[in-house]
Amino acid sequence: MDDRMLAISALQHYAYCPRQFALIHLEQAWEENRFTAEGRVLHERVDSGVAEQRRGTRSERGVLLLSQQYRLTGKMDLLEIESGDPPRFFPVEYKRGKPKVEDWDRIQLCAQALCIEEMRDTRVTEGAIWYWEVRRREPVVMDDALRATTVAAIEGAHALLASGKTPPPTEDVKRCRACSLVDLCEPDTFRRDHSAHYVNVNELFTEQE
Ligand code: SF4
Repeated sequence: MDDRMLAISALQHYAYCPRQFALIHLEQAWEENRFTAEGRVLHERVDSGVAEQRRGTRSERGVLLLSQQYRLTGKMDLLEIESGDPPRFFPVEYKRGKPKVEDWDRIQLCAQALCIEEMRDTRVTEGAIWYWEVRRREPVVMDDALRATTVAAIEGAHALLASGKTPPPTEDVKRCRACSLVDLCEPDTFRRDHSAHYVNVNELFTEQE
């Protein structure tokens, strides 16, 4: 069994496009663009904040996360802990963009919630994502559907890492336009290349090694 740990932040790459995930986390390719640079600066600012207590809520920043069950590690932007018996844990993730229909960002937050549940022996029912472009928090409910989607993404990402094979480009060409790796990935070249033949040649080559 492959016992590698997976970075929680990698899940959004997998959810967006498994090929993007493989290029970054298997092939170590990375290309910064304006969006990734702005996101990095935003997280650096958020993580550099100090813990604070306001009324009954303590805010911890840059909290380190670990799940042995899901083989996840990471760091979360903000964890609000509301005092009570039991205390209420409320994860908050900061994003530079705006709310999305797709679950990419919610998967990352839910994975953080799974880690908190394991580390603090609790149940996280809600969290929020703060979007820089619209300057507001979007509430996220950790319901069964989101948990199932998140666990499927975790398992898929682990399986892809274990396989060591970079998959073909996403069918959703719109995603490629916003992808920082489009020049390295060359999805159009790959799509024109009738990939079945390409894959067969590679498999033949692998067997002879
Ligand atoms: S360019 Fe398209 S296919 Fe390639 S990694 Fe990005 S989203 Fe995926």
